[in-house]
Amino acid sequence: MSLEGFGMTLKEIHHTVKRPGRTQDHDSVEIPVAEELATVPGIVKKDNDVAWYSRNYPIVSQNIEKAADREWTWTVYTGEMYEYRKHHDEVNKPLVEAAYVSGNKQPTGDVTPAKDVTEEIREKARKLGFGEVGFTKFDRKYAYKSKKAWVKYEHAICLALEQDYWQTQTIPSMEAEFAHFGTYEEEGALALDLADFIRDLGYRAQVHSPNDNSAAYIPMFVEAGLGQLGANGQLLSPHFGNRSRLLIISTDAIVTYDDPVDYGIHKFCEMCQVCVNRCPGRALVKEKVFWRGVEKHKLMYDRCRPVMATYEGCGVCMLVCPVQRYGMAPVMEHFVETGEVLGKGTDNLEGYEIRGKGYYGPGKLPSFNREFFDIPHGTKDEWLFTQFKQKIEGKGKVSEDEKQEFVEKLGDILSEESIYDAGL
Ligand code: SF4
Ligand code: SF4
Repeated sequence: MSLEGFGMTLKEIHHTVKRPGRTQDHDSVEIPVAEELATVPGIVKKDNDVAWYSRNYPIVSQNIEKAADREWTWTVYTGEMYEYRKHHDEVNKPLVEAAYVSGNKQPTGDVTPAKDVTEEIREKARKLGFGEVGFTKFDRKYAYKSKKAWVKYEHAICLALEQDYWQTQTIPSMEAEFAHFGTYEEEGALALDLADFIRDLGYRAQVHSPNDNSAAYIPMFVEAGLGQLGANGQLLSPHFGNRSRLLIISTDAIVTYDDPVDYGIHKFCEMCQVCVNRCPGRALVKEKVFWRGVEKHKLMYDRCRPVMATYEGCGVCMLVCPVQRYGMAPVMEHFVETGEVLGKGTDNLEGYEIRGKGYYGPGKLPSFNREFFDIPHGTKDEWLFTQFKQKIEGKGKVSEDEKQEFVEKLGDILSEESIYDAGL
């Protein structure tokens, strides 16, 4: 509800954003954006820079660029986490494979000529359970180098599926990981259903699996008006903030694009900073930088990864975000009324427990020794070279057996990469 009818508020309201309810059964919400929080719809970016980086240094998928540490994470999982991840990968494999070939499937229905089907698709997606649904151009500038040629259709349907509230509030924990990976599994199956629906309308649809991403998705979600980028590097959407999992379906259907929205998040994050202050790895930064043409808080990956891998996906930056915990409308209403960040400084919002280390309330952070952050870097072949070089530097030479082992491992990695490039 807007505060405009309530008379006295501390802050002037610049504009009010009206959004559909969290589900089809909920009323729409109104989010007041205070005068001092208003910036631009979407995100501050320099389009020429975004295009330049995309042409000259296309984004490389984390699956490839960070393959060495992704493999290493399996070595630090607890037994329970290891088994659960294996289970998830097995459940997910057919969904990823079906998504990969989904763009080749032929339409199953007849097109109604010149009919815009945006609202039909939106309604079906909401019925399936997606909490946020938006339409925009599939912007190839954000596509991964390995997937640029794979993307077939020009329109992007951006879909966010909410992750369970109570399980998420136990972060970091196995319970929260069940919610995290379980949401991906559910979403992967729902997307295939929605793609079938689009084919029944007479169009083509390509599912971009949330577990085999084709692009940096958040910029397109922002462009479609579904939220703004938070200081934690995650999409803050109106109802569940960053507590959702994102996927895209691209299509050739006749659709109308949504517009980006200013929810006031950029300025709000500058003032809030709860995720920055509470990150156990001290991986989040206070100041924004321009990164590949976009103004953002750039996460320090090497400080995050070891914490994520060791402590059940960490996710403290998701947990402590007031927009996740209370929803965007209550947070923005509270700011307009009081000038304060709802929950900031309270154990209720900021407290968390780290397995084996204990409870950390506001102002308290765990510490880790230097070796904890010492993880493999780069692609698998880069990491193999680094280790080989270290051996030579350490001993002055390597044995014939070690040389042979190096060549064999390199061969294995290169054949794995060619399978990946072929999309098999
Ligand atoms: S996942 Fe944990 S370590 Fe990584 S940025 Fe978030 S809070 Fe920090
Ligand atoms: S915790 Fe605060 S600063 Fe961090 S993303 Fe959420 S609103 Fe922004």
